[in-house]
Amino acid sequence: MSRIAYVNGQYVPHKDAAVHVEDRGYQFADGVYEVCEVWKNNIVDMPRHMDRLGRSLSELRIDWPMTRKALEFVLAETVRRNKVHNGLVYVQVTRGVSRRDHFFPPEDVAPSIVVTARSASPAAADKQAETGISVVSYPENRWPRVDIKTIALLPNVLAKQNAKESGGKEAWYVDADGNVTEGGSTNAWIVTKDNKLVTRPAESGILKGITRTAVLDLAEKEGLSFEERAFSLEEAYDAREAFVTAATTIVMPVVKIDDRIVGNGHPGMVASRLRQLFHTVTDLKAV
Ligand code: PLP
Repeated sequence: MSRIAYVNGQYVPHKDAAVHVEDRGYQFADGVYEVCEVWKNNIVDMPRHMDRLGRSLSELRIDWPMTRKALEFVLAETVRRNKVHNGLVYVQVTRGVSRRDHFFPPEDVAPSIVVTARSASPAAADKQAETGISVVSYPENRWPRVDIKTIALLPNVLAKQNAKESGGKEAWYVDADGNVTEGGSTNAWIVTKDNKLVTRPAESGILKGITRTAVLDLAEKEGLSFEERAFSLEEAYDAREAFVTAATTIVMPVVKIDDRIVGNGHPGMVASRLRQLFHTVTDLKAV
């Protein structure tokens, strides 16, 4: 089946999908994006993704490319046209196409929008979760506004590539105080030896992950003890468990950080339980 993309008002074959060379996303990374999980044909946590997209747009003073309702429809329609049962839907909005100039373009320049969707195998993700992943620490080198989900991801690309070349699947940023901020494309968590779930507060220094929020809700419902506070890389090395969260990975156990084995080197009980619970909740929403 050939893939379909939505580009500036039209559904087009994915292989022909293109934006103008003077799109500000292309030239200045002047845009924002969202990635949502698709689970059993349903876009998971759509309202929270739309809220965050609205916040990112407003922080950068980019207009909505269409009404929120219309955008929700385009996302669902792109998922439908690509026959994505389980997978991801991606939406990117940029400040539009205009002659290259750092200043904002004239007011009549409309934002550009691209939506794509692709299938992913839940079985492959579950298999990965059975063994867990390794992460590799990396000095925090991003701008302070990482709370905005911008398409300017070069630091993340370099950090993740470094992790890959060191045998890891994800990078963990470590700030000047020695604290873990987040992953290259995930939020970072540990479970302490006294069974407390810990993740960094989302006020600054991290992107407030939609999956992070959903997992905090789950932890609360399950009566798990949790703390939103900074944790150091040293504390993570000594933790009972570690894991990452994102729409792309849901809850993914971390079994190694740099050259240090976490816990007993196997996915922890808390991470595995949260992963399973997350699917149970999204199952209920999908019916
Ligand atoms: N942190 C960063 C830097 C990310 O890029 C992402 C996802 O892309 C996340 C955290 C996780 O966010 P979410 O759970 O909304 O996917």
